[in-house]
Amino acid sequence: MENKSKDFLRRIVEEDLNAGKYNEVVTRFPPEPNGFPHIGHAKSIAINFGIAKDYQGHCNLRMDDTNPTTEDTQYVEALKDAVQWLGFEWDKNVRYTSDYFPKLYAYARELIKMGKAYVDSTSEEEMRELRGTVTEAGKRSKYAERSVEENLELFEKMKKGEFKDGEHVLRAKIDMSAPNMKMRDPLLYRIRHAHHFRAGDEWAIYPMYDFAHCLSDYIEGVSHSICTLEFENNRDIYNWVLDTLGLKPIRPYQHEFARLGINYTVMSKRKLLELVEGGQVNGWDDPRMPTIAGLRRRGYTPESILNFCDSIGVAKANSMVDVAQLEFAIRDDLNTKVPRVMCVMNPLKVTITNYEGSEEIEAPYYPHDVPKEGTRKLPFSKEIYIDQSDFSQNPEKGYFRLTPEQPVRLKYAYIISCKEVIKDDKGNVVEIKAEYHPDSKSGKDTSGIKVKSAIQWVESNIAKQIEVRLYDRLFKTEAPESVEDLNPNSLKIIKDALIEPAVIDEKPDVRFQFEREGYFYADPIDYTDEKPIFNKIVGLKESSSKKKKAPKQTAKPQPKKVQIDGEVVPMTTEEQALFDNYTNNLKLNSEVANTLARDAQLSAFYQEALEAVNSPVGIANIVTNDVARELKQKELNELNYTPKQIAELMKMVDDELISTKIAKQVFEEMSKSGEEPTKIVESKGLVQISDPDIILPIIDEVIAKNPENVEKFRAGNTKLLGFFVGQVLKATKGKGNPKVVNELVARQLG
Ligand code: ATP
Ligand code: MG
Repeated sequence: MENKSKDFLRRIVEEDLNAGKYNEVVTRFPPEPNGFPHIGHAKSIAINFGIAKDYQGHCNLRMDDTNPTTEDTQYVEALKDAVQWLGFEWDKNVRYTSDYFPKLYAYARELIKMGKAYVDSTSEEEMRELRGTVTEAGKRSKYAERSVEENLELFEKMKKGEFKDGEHVLRAKIDMSAPNMKMRDPLLYRIRHAHHFRAGDEWAIYPMYDFAHCLSDYIEGVSHSICTLEFENNRDIYNWVLDTLGLKPIRPYQHEFARLGINYTVMSKRKLLELVEGGQVNGWDDPRMPTIAGLRRRGYTPESILNFCDSIGVAKANSMVDVAQLEFAIRDDLNTKVPRVMCVMNPLKVTITNYEGSEEIEAPYYPHDVPKEGTRKLPFSKEIYIDQSDFSQNPEKGYFRLTPEQPVRLKYAYIISCKEVIKDDKGNVVEIKAEYHPDSKSGKDTSGIKVKSAIQWVESNIAKQIEVRLYDRLFKTEAPESVEDLNPNSLKIIKDALIEPAVIDEKPDVRFQFEREGYFYADPIDYTDEKPIFNKIVGLKESSSKKKKAPKQTAKPQPKKVQIDGEVVPMTTEEQALFDNYTNNLKLNSEVANTLARDAQLSAFYQEALEAVNSPVGIANIVTNDVARELKQKELNELNYTPKQIAELMKMVDDELISTKIAKQVFEEMSKSGEEPTKIVESKGLVQISDPDIILPIIDEVIAKNPENVEKFRAGNTKLLGFFVGQVLKATKGKGNPKVVNELVARQLG
């Protein structure tokens, strides 16, 4: 909890603990099992379970099942699933309000005996009239004069089912002129001849929320009953019931926080049920639904949802959160976690006329600044596919990809130039004849050819065909009212996208970044090896329709637009000059140069760092990745570090004092604490290990633990070198000098 300003609920909890009001913090998450939980419930789950966890208390999961006609066990399961998937554990068994029906009934009889509750037999309509208005006091029903005995007898008959629905109700006798209308003799019980999914047909009466909730909290020993703002006026009843029954000394108090609303979606179980029943979506777990099951199927991680809940904060004012903030959270989470691979959505054949034979190109799954290891082989031959959008015959100014005049790099492979454009009789481009530049191979490029971007591609014979489901927002309007507002293009299916084979054969993960396209998730239900299906989780940057109108935010500002390689927006002259300098003189790759050149704030930051330490590539990478990511959420003057400190950090990497992986860790620490990088490295003992005497025993241990892989390696599967290096680096907690580890591992295995 350190470093984070506490929200008002946690402050209340702390005050109560300090005052000795409770020995233990007990919260509860009390959903009604009448639909699948949505992202709003995630907020409530994060708050209730989060607070219990932070203060070593516990949180109950309670099904608030007092409404027999709308509830169902499938919803109970969905709620349990959601809590567990988010990583929380409820205390003991799942609780049910229906389990307390006998106790609640006894409490109601108590109130009757105290003359504090009565059976009312006026019609619903008359009851409404008698209630008065905000400016006018109400009048008490004549039935309020019934004797205790009569009330007890009628109440028992109600329970046994001797009356019809609506014939009588049980009401609290409070105050018909109370300014809070809810206190004008609120209903405690009503008659319902309905089968209950757990209690069966035992009860013909069901308690109202206002009666059942506070008592259930009390029965469970809840200390802090946290609910959403719309219950603010119910708090008086909550207190009245507990106080009138004299339930002391330790009893729960209710605290309210703002409900989460997100634009471009609806957020009540009732409205979501309508979509499911109306067939507008494919069930509760449709990846377009704001349900936890839907987000999960779409590919959201629990971490991203919890981070999102954290980022929106806990407040007392209702507000609408931009869905972009949720999308930011998953992008931010996956950015450093998932493998990056190549997929071509709309294939265009390219024949490389001067290439013979075939080869395999080893390519990393993760960019070098991500603390993960692993590579795969990309088959390459004279016949490949690129994306249709990566070739243009009549390019607009600022088009960076392949044109008849402009060469482009095939990511990880060669630079190609277009030699001939082949069209069908309708004039559509169906094939490109190209030539590759043999001395331009990525990493060993001596060709001197300048390109402005690198594009994804796949080899034609070995690529795998996949189905891709592209999801967009479910509604086209920001505050949807009805099905009229549904976005007709919320689902697009591409049946014949092509993907590099390792994704299907090696399955390094279930979530991927498809380079330049976005983040994707192997559909957990429909995916088969014969027919792989991927869901688009989110694009790489904020989608454009959202940028036009930015709704108000609760906490953090909306993530700023990020420029990604290959955009068609032309650069200004100054930007172009920077870009040229970056690529020609500082040898930055075009993607990094592009990001820097187009962002004045970033390029200024970069410049200043560079003046302190001359490490152009290293600094550029950290600035475009880590600093840029922070600047999406913060202003420049809110950063905890200066350009000079970033430069110092990179200097330690250049001097091989620390590895890039550790640099990442140090950066996180700098960003949190504002401490000097050298101090962090010193005080945490993060100095890189290059001493073979320390590394060799670790290598021997890893080798001893993985005899099968050693055998495979020695039989010729040299791909496994990366595996061993990875294991050793992991064992050194990332402190091993990768270069030294690589050499030593190769030596020990060879
Ligand atoms: P819905 O209208 O979607 O059915 P609800 O409030 O009726 O929602 P419950 O199942 O009764 O849903 O809610 C369980 C808990 O989740 C309650 O404490 C409720 O306040 C909380 N909750 C529900 N929706 C939201 C939301 N949008 N934001 C924050 N908390 C929510
Ligand atoms: Mg509800």
